[in-house]
Amino acid sequence: MRPRVRLRWALRLTSLVVLGLLLYGPLFVWLPVTPGFVRDRQDLVVVLRRPGGEVTAAQGRFGAAARVVETSLGLSFTQPVPIVLCDAWSDLPRFMPWLPVNRSLGARTLPVGHVVYVTPLVRDRADADVFVRHELVHVLLHQHMPMMQRLDGGKPAWLIEGAATFFGNPGSYPAGQELRDRAKAFDVGRLLTDGPGAPGGPTLFYAESRDFVAQLVERYGADHLRAFLASYVRDPAQWPSAFAQSFGVPFDAALAKFAQREGL
Ligand SMILES: [Zn+2]
Repeated sequence: MRPRVRLRWALRLTSLVVLGLLLYGPLFVWLPVTPGFVRDRQDLVVVLRRPGGEVTAAQGRFGAAARVVETSLGLSFTQPVPIVLCDAWSDLPRFMPWLPVNRSLGARTLPVGHVVYVTPLVRDRADADVFVRHELVHVLLHQHMPMMQRLDGGKPAWLIEGAATFFGNPGSYPAGQELRDRAKAFDVGRLLTDGPGAPGGPTLFYAESRDFVAQLVERYGADHLRAFLASYVRDPAQWPSAFAQSFGVPFDAALAKFAQREGL
């Protein structure tokens, strides 16, 4: 074989392998056929699961969870949401080869393409729909956000995770006196602005972000939060001015009062 012919064949073979890897992995949910998985359409979601196993009661509530999320946020899903039920941890590197596998993770949402992957940790839990509801809040906001701002998961983190936890799975994190006691040693204002990597860590970050969103709803009403979210998704970078306009108070002032446990 002449070198040029050999090179052409090598290129063809490489592109076939790359195409196969892409289709088998990250692009899987968009394939017209999904070998090894069946699709169940449930209202606003499409559940992809391996055939044979029982569909649990919680898995049967994913569609209803999506409706609840729409009502809570005052936004509508623009397209059905694929939810992939992973049976094994090895499914995760298959579908998301660029991400490290975190075995304490219950579910993960990809901002590009809005796919929800449910891990073996949560897949068969009786409250799997509660975890999925959290992810569906992310998906719904992502579907309305510009691509550039959703690539990093969305900012500010307190809003993204606070809304998802408040509307999705408020009971998954400490609350009330237990939370106050645990948060005492930390700067709550800094935790909310700096995110889960700040002193205090992810558990307190999710809990305090949830409570900040909860207080916005209590103090100003759910309609004001929905108005804020509607402005936010249109232009996420301008969120501080949307916040001040929706609630009539600058974010920094609201956060300072919250951090001093004075309400909002
Ligand atoms: Zn989240």
